[in-house]
Amino acid sequence: MDDRRRALEAAHAAALGFLDGLDERPVWPRAGFEDMLAVFGDDLPAEGADAAAVVTDLAARADPGLVAIPGGRFFGFVIGGTLPAALAADWLVSAWDQNSGSSTMTTATVALERVAGRWVCDLMGLPEDAAVGWVTGAQMSNFVCLAVAQHAVLRRVGWDLTRRGLRGAPALRLVVGRHRHGSIDRAARFSGIGAEELVVVDTDEEGRMLPAALAQALGAGADTPTIVCLQAGEVHTGAFDPFEELIPLARAAGAWVHIDGAFGLWAAATPGLRHLAAGVAGADSWTTDAHKTLNVPYDCGMAIIRDPADAIAMFRTGGDYLMYTSLDPWDVNPELSRRGRGVPAWAALRSLGRRGVADLVDRLHAHARRLEAGLRRIDGVTVVNDVVYTQVMFRLDDDDATRALGAAILADGTAALTGAEWDGHATLRCSMSSWATTQDDIDRTIEAIARLVAERRPR
Ligand SMILES: *Cc1c(COP(=O)(O)O)cnc(C)c1O
Repeated sequence: MDDRRRALEAAHAAALGFLDGLDERPVWPRAGFEDMLAVFGDDLPAEGADAAAVVTDLAARADPGLVAIPGGRFFGFVIGGTLPAALAADWLVSAWDQNSGSSTMTTATVALERVAGRWVCDLMGLPEDAAVGWVTGAQMSNFVCLAVAQHAVLRRVGWDLTRRGLRGAPALRLVVGRHRHGSIDRAARFSGIGAEELVVVDTDEEGRMLPAALAQALGAGADTPTIVCLQAGEVHTGAFDPFEELIPLARAAGAWVHIDGAFGLWAAATPGLRHLAAGVAGADSWTTDAHKTLNVPYDCGMAIIRDPADAIAMFRTGGDYLMYTSLDPWDVNPELSRRGRGVPAWAALRSLGRRGVADLVDRLHAHARRLEAGLRRIDGVTVVNDVVYTQVMFRLDDDDATRALGAAILADGTAALTGAEWDGHATLRCSMSSWATTQDDIDRTIEAIARLVAERRPR
């Protein structure tokens, strides 16, 4: 066997070994970062080594520092698992090594991405001829969408950002909710918009933007180029902004509307939860992730722009966009060379079908409701949010006790979840994002939390 075949077979064996062991291993890693640095930290050897041996060795050494993210009981942050078809397609993407920037050269991968983008827009009720940029995640998507939006709203008042830059440009308003995701602030910063320039609109107790507050914020500067940034799926509560009320207000003010729906937009793909996302189609741009709810391996996000000409105007490399009729990946993406990261999304969607996507999202919601019900039965536990979607947040009466419980859950290893501050209190948050989660996983998690809470209760 040649080196390549043996290296791939070593990777195949190590991957299956890890995946087959997910149910037994503690969810949180056994080794800390300093331990792992010590494991890998020897000097670069002068001589090379056999490819298969390198792969087997790295997999063995990495093992204690791996998180059971693709398993059924990882509920931290908002992080999906990996569907089998998506994982296998991701291996192909690496084997093919297609630099997927141009539809003239890498025709297969760019076509797969184009079709997958259309499927997602169709599932979410968004315009199917929108431009879709396959980026690394929602952070980069928010950056792409805000950059395109900034260019478009300035162009409407006669300022071409691509020629004249931002210095000296007319004033611009970026209107955001108080509970926006932190990646919006970073995306704004990358686009030259500072934190103190943001117009922050108040939200309700679940983190939803208040229409009256938006109306008031917009009223203050009628002729200013404006971008309104809304949210589908607050990262702690899972709450959705009331789009049907907010978008007409933004439209009346001539604003560009962007929706960050990293995991929330997927609610639109199932009849049972579609009401949460009602009105999203009225926006100009949308952010979503494939590596969260769709369970595609990292990294895979989507920037969706209603009018492809707006994306081209910002991102095309050279030339007058009006001379072009086609759309290349680099027209909707700050990257030039790039992997065909939309291909695993195509495989995920093809393996699920329309019904499978709806079932997946419904199941994640059902898990959230089951977990909520179980938590409510534990003495001393308060569920903090209205569980409308996939997020469940809870706490104990005392903040230090809540934090200690969070640490105890990670040390116990049955499940993993992460903490946050909400409404002035320490809370623990659980995100149902993995296709691999079963009812049994939820029940085992509830049992573990009940046991750890009881152990901590003063006698
Ligand atoms: C996760 C998340 C992001 C950031 O997404 P990445 O994929 O980590 O870049 C942005 N917005 C929301 C609402 C999110 O949940």
